[in-house]
Amino acid sequence: MNHPISSYLQPNNLGAWGTYLEQVDRVTPYLGSLSKWVETLKRPKRALIVDVPIELDNGAIAHFEGYRVHHNLARGPGKGGIRFHQDVTLSEVMALSAWMSIKTAVVNVPFGGAKGGVRVNPKTLSHAELERMTRRFTSEINMMIGPQKDIPAPDVNTNGQIMAWMMDTYSVNQGHTSTGVVTGKPISLGGSLGRGDATGRGVFVIANEAYTLINGDISQARVAIQGLGNVGGEAARLFDQAGAKVVAVQDHSASLYNPNGFNVPQLLKHVAIAREIKGFEGEAISNESFWSTPCDILVPAALESQVTKVNAQKIQARLVVEGANGPTTPEADDVLRDRGVIVVPDVIANAGGVTVSYFEWVQDFSSFFWTEAEINARLDKIMIDAFKSVVEVAKTHNVSYRTATFIVGCERILSAREMRGLYP
Ligand code: NAD
Repeated sequence: MNHPISSYLQPNNLGAWGTYLEQVDRVTPYLGSLSKWVETLKRPKRALIVDVPIELDNGAIAHFEGYRVHHNLARGPGKGGIRFHQDVTLSEVMALSAWMSIKTAVVNVPFGGAKGGVRVNPKTLSHAELERMTRRFTSEINMMIGPQKDIPAPDVNTNGQIMAWMMDTYSVNQGHTSTGVVTGKPISLGGSLGRGDATGRGVFVIANEAYTLINGDISQARVAIQGLGNVGGEAARLFDQAGAKVVAVQDHSASLYNPNGFNVPQLLKHVAIAREIKGFEGEAISNESFWSTPCDILVPAALESQVTKVNAQKIQARLVVEGANGPTTPEADDVLRDRGVIVVPDVIANAGGVTVSYFEWVQDFSSFFWTEAEINARLDKIMIDAFKSVVEVAKTHNVSYRTATFIVGCERILSAREMRGLYP
């Protein structure tokens, strides 16, 4: 079978898209008659590559390459973030869009999967240049997005301000204000309470469920967390609040260990000011020692491909809960499975963000806003119900949580595909 878009990528280096294709191959034997449709999952529906030219403050013209990919829209409009990073590639955006298709299906919100990005280091741009780049990119992908078509959200290096510029640019082009075109907006522009904390909250809720299933008591757990940003920071706060001890943390600046448990509120205060964990009280340890820290639960919540076949051999935790997207390589997954370490995959563990994005979209349509308590209660219920379905499927097929989560997601997407049929 030829893959027209995959063949645009370097054939021997599909990157994150290659990881995703391997995950689909692993789940195909469990899809029964729906496997007839599986090729649908192995190619994006459409992918747009755009040139984003802007005038820099010094008068020079700079060009950036941007992407918006619709992976699958069988279950509803596209949903997925916008990443601004110097390493963004089409392969990465394709993979992230595909994981969004699986994620939205697993938590059963009525969206498909999409993702976008611009290959740029936003830290090298002034505030005005960043605004011009964001607005030009939004105009270039205008044909792909819309509240009923595809709804972007923040991802790495994008935030509420960027979403506000995107919403404004789209609205000006449409001739009317359209708040529902993006989620993760500031509250003053139709954003939702609880959106900022939703992913970290979901990670904690799922970790608690999964740990209880292996007869663990969260209030006695020792936790190691990589990344103390939006996701890892909120998860750390909730673990601490539940009585667990956060014994090791790592970010781009350092790895720290404290067998008695960090003072998490103080640590988060330090990170809010210093933008890094370096300088906080605790034993400085090597990157290697971080992965072999004696602990019960490990939460990678930073970047892709952090848990490798090498450090997976040394992980002491009984449970790994993936806060980041794609933090575990397929080889590391095999090592962890063989060593009896349970992994709760990203496509369910970090689905809290897209779930509250769905709430934001619904609230924007109805122009009626919910309280934070209502949002958190609905979020917890969706996450717990989704995890219970995954646990059932894992038992039925005697497979890992990752395979079970992919079975649930792929079945929902492919059933929708089959029911819709092919046109013409
Ligand atoms: P963030 O930028 O707020 O935080 C990232 C954290 O990772 C920081 O603590 C940073 O220091 C750390 N980090 C960066 N490079 C590192 C390195 N080389 N080694 C160790 N740590 C490093 O980002 P975030 O929003 O918390 O996202 C983290 C991950 O979660 C990403 O994979 C993202 O795609 C995923 N995710 C985020 C959301 C969300 O709602 N924010 C939703 C789903 C998935």
